Amino acid sequence: MSDFDVDLFVIGAGSGGVRAARIAANHGATVIVAEEYRVGGTCVIRGCVPKKLLVYAARFADEFEDAAGYGWTLQRPVFDWPTLIANKDREIARLEAAYVANLERSKVKIVRSRAILEDAHRVRLVATGEVVRARHILIATGGWPSLGADIAGLEHVITSNEALDLAAFPKRILIQGGGYIAVEFAGIFHGLGAEVTLVYRGDNILRGFDDDVREHLRGEMEKRGIRILTRKLVEGVEKVDHGLCVSLSDHEAVVVDQVMFATGRRPNVTGIGLDRAGVQLNERGAVKVDRYSRTSVPHIYAVGDVTDRVNLTPVAIREGHAFADTVFGGREVAVDHADIPTAVFSEPEVGVIGLTEMEARHRYARVDIYKSSFRTLKMTLAARDTRCFFKLVVDGDSDRVLGCHIIGPDAGEMIQLVGIAIKMNATKADFDRVMAVHPTAAEELVTMRTKAATYVREAAE
Ligand code: FAD
Repeated sequence: MSDFDVDLFVIGAGSGGVRAARIAANHGATVIVAEEYRVGGTCVIRGCVPKKLLVYAARFADEFEDAAGYGWTLQRPVFDWPTLIANKDREIARLEAAYVANLERSKVKIVRSRAILEDAHRVRLVATGEVVRARHILIATGGWPSLGADIAGLEHVITSNEALDLAAFPKRILIQGGGYIAVEFAGIFHGLGAEVTLVYRGDNILRGFDDDVREHLRGEMEKRGIRILTRKLVEGVEKVDHGLCVSLSDHEAVVVDQVMFATGRRPNVTGIGLDRAGVQLNERGAVKVDRYSRTSVPHIYAVGDVTDRVNLTPVAIREGHAFADTVFGGREVAVDHADIPTAVFSEPEVGVIGLTEMEARHRYARVDIYKSSFRTLKMTLAARDTRCFFKLVVDGDSDRVLGCHIIGPDAGEMIQLVGIAIKMNATKADFDRVMAVHPTAAEELVTMRTKAATYVREAAE
């Protein structure tokens, strides 16, 4: 290796960076990965995994209550936040160690430092000042919570980063935001016993999701006791005797113990020398890449949230893998970003894939809608007032299923399987040919016979 110290330098050991580093090394490349915080990145350390552990914790509350209808008498359950956080931290540390071990097994060198680009081939390690000359560079620096406008008292506001590690459990919390992170944390804190207020500036939560899903989930969250205030904004936060006083745009004041903003995330592009290397950003402030994750500089690539394509862990992993195969594996691989199944671990859970009803009605001449809302068998004895929701969006001409939207227990598990059928271009008739599994909630997917609506698009003027 003459001009370069290493074949690949990866900035960021998160979902995308770790996968790319390991696969590139397995293809024979010499690889260094730099991480400024903890190996594993957002998903493992302060995203998907710790969040889902807290979701599991929160869901026991319903189980304890529902058990009564099945003949169980329980002592009043007592929840201890420090125990949950300590156990969660132990699992995260175990996972981080596993990530490190996997990288080391693949002969990837891990450096614990912030890394910044000096120019298009040289990377500086802030911890030591060392400069590494790299043949290829991968930017996998992820994203960071964005707090929005600089309101009074912003220093009292936490984000999802801190919410996963609070020293004390907040009995009252106000969460601003309407996206999946906001509704998930609302469910977590409510399930664990907090009084939760969700404030969102838009018309309804989960912008971008199917309107029926948004309506149904909101209704279910409100039935559980979460206060949802839409078309409102937090205008200021002030420390008072017994907590924090939050002023809303309609002049209401709410006193709580914690204020959390889940108001979006921004690509991590600041201060890493992208301009010095000539790496361009797109109009959304994310690193601009082509379908092979190549930036405006041919030997510099970027994957994951820093590119703001679809900000999910499995997508970052696929992009990292595809990059390594393309550059070091001798075959060009582009990631297919269409029809990505995804879940919202709210209470109840949401699983979706493909087009919403409105998207389909814009794109297709004829759209058939099938939907169903019902109480699951389990809820009959539990006497809980909660309903599942299933919706299929179908191309009325080809009969292909364009979208599937589910709310209810294990919706995330269900949508993963529905995803296989949808990627295989299954038609509604294919769904109908499948025998039901009875008694389950998922059987609804193959037993919805009656169209709820058919929309025929007017011919273009
Ligand atoms: P990251 O995983 O964010 O990794 C980037 C890494 O780069 C970080 O470790 C960071 O410390 C490091 N870094 C940044 N700059 C530098 C630098 N200059 N030098 C060295 N290191 C640097 N996705 C799902 O699929 N399912 C979920 O349920 C889910 N839940 C989520 C819940 C929350 C609360 C959050 C915040 C996110 C969630 N996500 C979920 C999204 C998911 O975590 C991200 O899409 C994923 O982690 C992106 O991977 P990445 O490799 O792009 O970046």
